[in-house]
Amino acid sequence: MTDRPGKIVCVGRNYREHAKEMGNAVPVEPLLFLKPSSAIIHSGQAVVSPRLTRQLEHEGEIGVVIGMPIRRATEAQARAAIRGVVALNDITARDLQKSDAQWTRGKGFDTFCPIGPEWSGIPDFASLEVVTRVNGVVRQRGTGAEMVFSVPALLAYISQVMTLEPGDIVATGTPAGVGPLIPGDTVEVEVVGCSSVSNPVIAEA
Ligand code: MG
Repeated sequence: MTDRPGKIVCVGRNYREHAKEMGNAVPVEPLLFLKPSSAIIHSGQAVVSPRLTRQLEHEGEIGVVIGMPIRRATEAQARAAIRGVVALNDITARDLQKSDAQWTRGKGFDTFCPIGPEWSGIPDFASLEVVTRVNGVVRQRGTGAEMVFSVPALLAYISQVMTLEPGDIVATGTPAGVGPLIPGDTVEVEVVGCSSVSNPVIAEA
């Protein structure tokens, strides 16, 4: 993938254990937010910890890449519109996410969306595993089977609101185990067998 996606649609609290660790109820409907495409970086590029935060955190996620436009899709139509998968790190300034009424600032800084190379195809999402490591130590591990809402259900739900277009990315939520990143760390998200992205963390100059 070379071009920036038109949009990155993210899903919050889509793993029960993560909702629980944050002290949140499991949602009855998908919780949606957007990340700006200007936040995207690739493997080897640095995540810049902003001066404005004191609580930078990783969220390793399965990113789904859309291959054809869908609007008001059924789950079957939504599944057929998938082009591929990327490893995605929904980097979050947790303190700003909590202090603001919505998440644009806490989720939207430049470098807050590392993505790996696109793997082409439609995997078996239930068995697809996402692992997050910091300095080589596993911090998060989860599979699609643990999601509150399945990938096709998420895409169909989002498409009731906005047209999903080719190249758009949907970040499908993070498993339990989110935690701090500090300058000097290296954070890696791997969607096992499909894609991985590794990034050093540096302080804002
Ligand atoms: Mg997330």
